[in-house]
Amino acid sequence: MKALLTGNEAIARGAYEYGISVAAAYPGTPSTEILENISKYPEIYSQWSPNEKVAMEVGVGASIAGARTLVAMKHVGVNVAADPLFTAAYSGVRGGLILVSADDPGMHSSQNEQDNRHYAPFAKIPMLEPSDSQEAKDMVKLALEISETFDTPVLLRITTRIAHSQSLVELGEPMEREIKPYTKDAKKFVMIPAHARTRRVFLEERDAQLATFSEQSAANFVEMRQQSFGIITSGVSYQYVKEAFPQASVLRLGITHPIPKQKIMDFANEVDTLFVVEELEPYLENQIKALGIKVVGKDLLPPYGELSVSLLQKNLGAYLNVANPSVAVTTEQSNIMQEVQQPFTAPVRPPVMCPGCPHRGVFYVIKQLKLVVSGDIGCYTLGTMPPLEAMDTCICMGASISAAVGMEKANPELAGKLVAVIGDSTFMHSGVTGLMDVVYNKTAATIIILDNSITAMTGHQYHPGTGKTLMNEDSPTVDFAALAKSLGVRRVAEVDAFDLETVKKVIQEEVAAPEPSVIIARQPCALMLKGQTEAVVCEDCKACRVCLRIGCPALSFDEEGKTVVVNKPLCTGCNVCIQICKFGALRKGGA
Ligand code: SF4
Ligand code: SF4
Repeated sequence: MKALLTGNEAIARGAYEYGISVAAAYPGTPSTEILENISKYPEIYSQWSPNEKVAMEVGVGASIAGARTLVAMKHVGVNVAADPLFTAAYSGVRGGLILVSADDPGMHSSQNEQDNRHYAPFAKIPMLEPSDSQEAKDMVKLALEISETFDTPVLLRITTRIAHSQSLVELGEPMEREIKPYTKDAKKFVMIPAHARTRRVFLEERDAQLATFSEQSAANFVEMRQQSFGIITSGVSYQYVKEAFPQASVLRLGITHPIPKQKIMDFANEVDTLFVVEELEPYLENQIKALGIKVVGKDLLPPYGELSVSLLQKNLGAYLNVANPSVAVTTEQSNIMQEVQQPFTAPVRPPVMCPGCPHRGVFYVIKQLKLVVSGDIGCYTLGTMPPLEAMDTCICMGASISAAVGMEKANPELAGKLVAVIGDSTFMHSGVTGLMDVVYNKTAATIIILDNSITAMTGHQYHPGTGKTLMNEDSPTVDFAALAKSLGVRRVAEVDAFDLETVKKVIQEEVAAPEPSVIIARQPCALMLKGQTEAVVCEDCKACRVCLRIGCPALSFDEEGKTVVVNKPLCTGCNVCIQICKFGALRKGGA
């Protein structure tokens, strides 16, 4: 039976069919749905971990205990998990171990764009890159086999378009789940220097064996057509190549570390002009050039962002027209190019917090108080957008608190003006360690935890502060106030995020205090509210426009600019605008 699946769903299906017993992740677009879908298979123990490092460590432990294991994260998460990953490359596995890295070319929802293919040669582990959902599932099987045969974690690298695009997948029956018998093997799994030195040599031997495997693997295949030009490609770029140049010969690499050098040389000898089509870095191109092969790649294609069919036709087509008119772009392709190059006229919608978002009022107050804000990654990062513009820094997950320590240490005058703002899930991810630093190194930082009781930005995943697991079981809930106190914070306040007067008073008090403070501003994410409470209405508006300063999408002006209009289907009745209107024009439910 076939089903239409996204790459993420297909990887989850592969985990189910090919005997994965343990799966762990921290949610992050574009990888989130892998674990969400795995959790639908009760045969697999699955968990959200507080961060990617923890997820990786859970995976390594499960593999050592004999289980086939999958760990998933977005590209930046691999930076967090790099520490255990690099050592797991040494210790190897018992049950097959897959790390899925979901990269985000074009930064659809990421703070940077990084090409995680470099992690494979860096950590000396094999890497697979699927080109559609069927391969995403098939490569779970291949990765497990490689992992167990060659005693190595395997990097399964996907990108946003593979993760989120749908294609047909043949569904199979699940194999029997097996936990290999546990035996102690300290020389393999205890990486003290004496043991690690032995494994270091093993890493080189393993890479050489994997290179031979890569030469023979059907995951690297040639589609021979025109000999005048050939293209080496991998991942989603293979789909763009097929659509842009159906007449081209193609070497599609499914194993992109180690690359099959002989296969590449043989292919290069078969074609007159050789291109490498790959997104982001010249990862394949540099390795192919190092083989002494003349190849055209990043001379024509950008080393950033996503590729597209039109971009390939435009840039490679122009090159071919000049260099080899006999293989010039066909009329049909030229027509397609003109079509896709027509300007895209959909209106641009800037990212904005949802109506009723509990973060909006807190940022409104912070802006009123003219505070310096060390921010973090989550929906609340949108507090940096107009009209709120209430954020000074945003670096990576958990950095708000530790960066605030640095800012205060560097410039003590900031002590009375600085707040670190972090969400509940991000605080669990890696904010707790920063808070320890605040206390331990004696700063007066004020930390505002925006607790909306969920990991909102990635689509409502649970975390240790929510009292629920990925498998929907009740679990103990981390008490942020008690946790902060246990870390040595003496000033801990809990406020209603919609009560702007109290929020303002408490922030003023805590910022002025000469010691660390934690303020927990609580209200659930607006998208979790079941059914709408009474929507706000506007009567006798004085058109002062003050309420627009909160940037709520439910508020706008009528065409003449005389009165505020409340979009009732959007309004959640959060009350924030009511508190801001000094004329009492905004009222709940027309009261
Ligand atoms: S998803 Fe929730 S937390 Fe995020 S902007 Fe919307 S209401 Fe706010
Ligand atoms: S609703 Fe109130 S705050 Fe908004 S423009 Fe009218 S009078 Fe001003």
